[in-house]
Parts: sequence; structure tokens; C-alpha cells
Amino acid sequence: MQAPAMADLDARADWRAVDFIADLHLEAAAARTFTVWRDYLHRTTADAVFILGDLFEVWVGDDLAESDAFARDCAEVLSEATAHRPVYFMPGNRDFLVGPAWFARTGVRPLADPTVLHFGGRRWLLSHGDALCTGDTAYQAFRAEVRAHPWQQAFLAQPIDARLALARALRAQSAERQRALAADALAEVDAQAACAWLEAADAPVLIHGHTHRPAVHTLPCRTSSASRIVLSDWDFDAEPARGSVLRVERSGQWQRIALPL
Ligand code: MN
Repeated sequence: MQAPAMADLDARADWRAVDFIADLHLEAAAARTFTVWRDYLHRTTADAVFILGDLFEVWVGDDLAESDAFARDCAEVLSEATAHRPVYFMPGNRDFLVGPAWFARTGVRPLADPTVLHFGGRRWLLSHGDALCTGDTAYQAFRAEVRAHPWQQAFLAQPIDARLALARALRAQSAERQRALAADALAEVDAQAACAWLEAADAPVLIHGHTHRPAVHTLPCRTSSASRIVLSDWDFDAEPARGSVLRVERSGQWQRIALPL
């Protein structure tokens, strides 16, 4: 598999620890998840926070942050957080339409998918993860279409109610597909694709979300000791609650931090 172009980000020299989170799927109906997230951003001692996609359950355009009270609350939480430490956001499959107006409003910094983070003398490959689920060819075709400029231009030109209705229809379709793919092999990160990306990035470790299956996998790459660390999704309105933070120290050591903090 051909690896995409890799963006690069140099950690600041004074960073001691950075946090990675993904797949919070924030929405007004999930009040507890929002509260845990807000309090986490207040209390974390990390020097930077990286959000690797699907922060929002759905995002149909930056005008949402004007018209929708919940989107506005989220923007305020982020504005407050970015006043204290850098916060980076990489788009996921639910919120890839987050755009320049939202970044400007919140102070969050955009992060390309994939990006190689240079931190503590190591290279860490960061991705949301959906592009690596190459077994699901129908999804990859859909992804290529909606990530292209013409589709996005046509979508964003529609009134917000029409956009929300289409987003609901797409989510229903995707939920149905997820059930159909219950065997799940297709909706999992492909090991060969992950190796191709890691080789192109010259990095030993991939950090990603998307699959909602937190784990550490050793990868059968040419470079020995290649691995991928899968982030947890968040749902603090579910029973039992789910969600954690991956904290990486400058030394290269990492741990999962349970929430709420
Ligand atoms: Mn996702």
C-alpha cells in the first residue's frame, strides 16, 4: 500500500508530557461525557493535548458553532483550554468538516492526518485511523468522495437543516453497515497498511483511534518492534463508562490515565 504524505510537527523543547485523546463523540445528549471532557481539559498537567479525531459526533459546518448552543459551549471550553496550553485537532470521519473559522474561534491548531510528531528524540506517527481500515473498500470509496473539495463545497452550500438531515441519514447508514460488518475484520486497521505508513514515517509507533478497541498491537513490519497504540473512545453516559487519556512522557514512557481526573 502507498503511504500518504506525512506532515511533521516538532514538539516544543520545554514539553515534558503530552496527552492523546480521540473518539469522544461529543453531542448534547451525552451530558456526562461533556462534563468529564471539560474537567479533564481544566485539570490535565500535560504540556499539550492532541485530539486525534471524532471529537464531535457530527459536524456539518463551522456555522454550527454560532447557531447551536452545545457547539458553542464546546468552543468556549476549547478557547479556555488553548489559553493555557496548545491543543491540536486532527479530523476524524465524523468531524472532518471542522474548518478554519472553528480553529480561529477556539485557538485550536489543525493537525493533518497523518502527522509525525517529533518528541523526546522519537518519532510518533499520529492518525485518526479510518484511512488504515483498507479492508472496507466501500468505506474507503465514500471517504475519498467526501474528503474531496467538490463534495464539501456542494454540502456546505446547503442550508443547515438539510446538512443535518443528510448527516443523520449517513450516520444511520453507517450504523447499519457496522452491524453488517459485525465480524469486524474489515473495520479494523490493516497491519500491512500500518507497516507501510510506519516505514514511510520512519517511526516505530503509531497512535490512533477510530476503532474503539483500546489495545497495543505488535505489528509484523520489517522494522522490529513496530507497534500501534489504540486510544479508547469515550462514553461517560454509558454503564459502565468508557474513556481514558494516553499520556506520553518525553522519556518515551507512556501510560493510560483513567477518567474522570
Ligand atoms: Mn472515527
